[in-house]
Amino acid sequence: MKFNTKTIHGGQEHDKAYGAVMPPIYQTSTYAQSTPGGHKGYEYSRTHNPTRNALENSLASIENGNYGLAFGSGLAAIDAVIKLLKPGDEVISTNDLYGGTYRLFTKVFENFGVKFHFIGMQNAENIEDYVNKNTKLIWVETPTNPMMNIIDIKAAAAVAKRHDLLLAVDNTFATPYLQQPLDLGADIVMHSATKYLGGHSDVVMGALIVKEKELADKLYFIQNASGAICGPQDSFLVLRGIKTLHLRMQRHCENGKAVAEYLSKHPKIEKVYWPGFENHPNHHIAKSQMKDFGGMISFTTKGNNFEEAIKIVEKLKIFTLAESLGGVESLAGHPASMTHASIPKEEREKTGVVDSLIRLSVGIEDMDDLIDDLKQAVG
Ligand SMILES: *Cc1c(COP(=O)(O)O)cnc(C)c1O
Repeated sequence: MKFNTKTIHGGQEHDKAYGAVMPPIYQTSTYAQSTPGGHKGYEYSRTHNPTRNALENSLASIENGNYGLAFGSGLAAIDAVIKLLKPGDEVISTNDLYGGTYRLFTKVFENFGVKFHFIGMQNAENIEDYVNKNTKLIWVETPTNPMMNIIDIKAAAAVAKRHDLLLAVDNTFATPYLQQPLDLGADIVMHSATKYLGGHSDVVMGALIVKEKELADKLYFIQNASGAICGPQDSFLVLRGIKTLHLRMQRHCENGKAVAEYLSKHPKIEKVYWPGFENHPNHHIAKSQMKDFGGMISFTTKGNNFEEAIKIVEKLKIFTLAESLGGVESLAGHPASMTHASIPKEEREKTGVVDSLIRLSVGIEDMDDLIDDLKQAVG
């Protein structure tokens, strides 16, 4: 089955009771038993729920994995991965990580004795320098947020294989439409399904996908034991979202390219960060591991003026000023005053989050309307 068919049919069966084409929303916590232990495969909805299982099978299918697990948020999914570790274990992670992931690693798991190294991975050979006998996991995010850095997944997987480490890839920005990390050698794919998989800004959810049964069993154990699952209604919404992922992504990419090219020619714009440009430092890697370049773009204005950037995001009419990304509607954010406001100016500027940086999640509206909106806002 090809990807565009998998989004609709992958892992799906028609409902056995009435032939419903979409899986019913099994809004139930428990299941009747005829005799103790006499049930139809479902005992309690923290452990299993038919609607969640339908989603988990779809997730496994679209990421070319064998097992999918859905969680109450992207961070709950990441939390489950780190719970594979023990005190004293070490993790090597990208340095320009999603802020919430950084907070979970440093403010929660460091208290339990897990050690994290945050390093630049644009050259994946750097990873090897940080491997020691305690290293257990490499955590990669590509493209990164908000600087759109690209990390070579195959090269990171080679390091992981050489030292018998797990490689996890946060595939939220790319989605399996653009890149399939398990095929490139990753062990675990993670998603904030809140973003492109859900795709309609109406649900918060996380996901993990793996190939190996032994790893899947450990993660299912944690999913059930820690209990950070998602409900049946949200499972249904994300399953519905996935059915149009390929169509939405195609348009996100087309509109993203048009917006990136428009901004790059604008006299007031200093720099546009988008992996589709040939002068992007890792464009060749993006080109080899991604099918297209996505709809996430960041840019800075000449003079790097904080107030000017605020004015631009306030003037936008079709782009909504909001956190999050990956929905059908275009969003704009100002990292220095929003997602990265808690990071000291000198620290955030080291990774490129300067005062005038604006991040766009380019939606699937009409391309001309989006460009007109940027035209009137940037001036
Ligand atoms: C949003 C996001 C997360 C966290 O997911 P939630 O669903 O908000 O918990 C993790 N990684 C990336 C790249 C994200 O964009």
